[in-house]
Amino acid sequence: MIQEHNTSLLVIYTGGTIGMTQNPVTGALSPFNFNDIYEQMPVLKDFGYNIDVHSFDPLVDSSNMKPAFWIKLAKLIEEKYEIYDGFVVLHGSDTMAYSASALSFMLENLNKPVVFTGSQLPMGVIRTDGRENFLTAIEIAAARDHELPTVPEVSIYFENHLMRGNRTTKFNAEHFNAFVSGNYPPLAEVGVHIKYNKNRILKHSFRKLKIHTELDYNVTILKLFPGLSEAAVKATLGIPGLKGLILETFGSGNAPTDSWFISVLENAINDGLIIFNVTQCKSGAVELGRYETSFELQRIGVIGGSDITTESALAKLMYLIGQGFSRKEVIQLLQTSLRGEMTV
Ligand code: ASP
Repeated sequence: MIQEHNTSLLVIYTGGTIGMTQNPVTGALSPFNFNDIYEQMPVLKDFGYNIDVHSFDPLVDSSNMKPAFWIKLAKLIEEKYEIYDGFVVLHGSDTMAYSASALSFMLENLNKPVVFTGSQLPMGVIRTDGRENFLTAIEIAAARDHELPTVPEVSIYFENHLMRGNRTTKFNAEHFNAFVSGNYPPLAEVGVHIKYNKNRILKHSFRKLKIHTELDYNVTILKLFPGLSEAAVKATLGIPGLKGLILETFGSGNAPTDSWFISVLENAINDGLIIFNVTQCKSGAVELGRYETSFELQRIGVIGGSDITTESALAKLMYLIGQGFSRKEVIQLLQTSLRGEMTV
C-alpha cells in the first residue's frame, strides 16, 4: 500500500504586526501566542497538514532586524530542513524585503519553499489582512507538483501576490498591498485559484542545501540627491573599514558629473572599495554609459547593478564579501544572477 505523504510545515514567528492581538476590552495590542496555533485558528486543521510553530524569543519589530538574526533564521531552517516540507516565516513588513533577500543568498541550493509573510493590521483586529496572508502562505508552502515543492525558493506573499523575495521592496505603509516587485512578475497570483507562474519560479537544484552565515557588514548605502555635498560623500567613503558601497543613482544609473564627485569615487575604487550602482527607481535598470552622466562612473570602475533592488544589493554585497572571494570574483559575481535577483 502506498503511504500518503503527510505534509509538515514549520511556521517561524519572528515578530511584527501580524503576531499582535487586540484585547477586546482595553484595545491594547499584545503578541498572539502562535504556539497555541490550532486553538487560535481552528480552521488550520482543515488543511490536514502537520503544522509546528517556532517562536523567536525575544520577538522583534522588524525595524530592529539585524544580520545576526538572519543567521539565526538560516541556521534554524538548516536544522529543520529534513523534517519539514516547507517554511512560513512571519515577519514584520518594514524590513521583510531585506530579510528575504538575505536569506535567498544565505540558503544555497534551496529546494523547499520559504514563504515570508506578515500584515499591515494585527491578526487580532477584525479587518486584518494577516489571516488571509497567513493561510495562503501556508497553502503555498505546502503546494506540490509532481511530488516536488511548487515554489522552491525564498518568496514573499502579501495581498494576493507571491513575489520572489529578493525582487521586492516595501512601497506602501498604508495599503494592504504593501510590496512591489517592479522588475519581476509575480510567482503566483491569488484569487479564487492560486495561479502559479511556473516558468518564472526557480527550478529545483536537487543539490544539498548549503547555508552561508558569513556576512560582512562593512557595506553602506549612499543615496544621491541634488545638492549632495562633497563633505557628505567624503564622510561616507571615509567610514573606517568600508569595503562595499551601494550607490543609489538617478534613473538608469546616472550621477552628477562634477569633477570632485568623480575623483572622490575614483580614489576610493583605487583604494579597493567596491561600488555597486543601483537605481532609485522602483522599476527599470541601470545602464551604464547610456547617458553622459553615467559614462564617467563606468570609466572609473563602478559596477552596474542592472535591475537589482537596493535591499537585494545590500544583502548580496554582505554575502559576497563575507565569503572571502577576491575583489575580481566579487565584481564578477555582482554582475551574475545568483538567486534570480537581477536580469543579466
Ligand atoms: N513595525 C512593524 C514591523 O515591521 C510593521 C509590520 O509588521 O508590518 O515589525
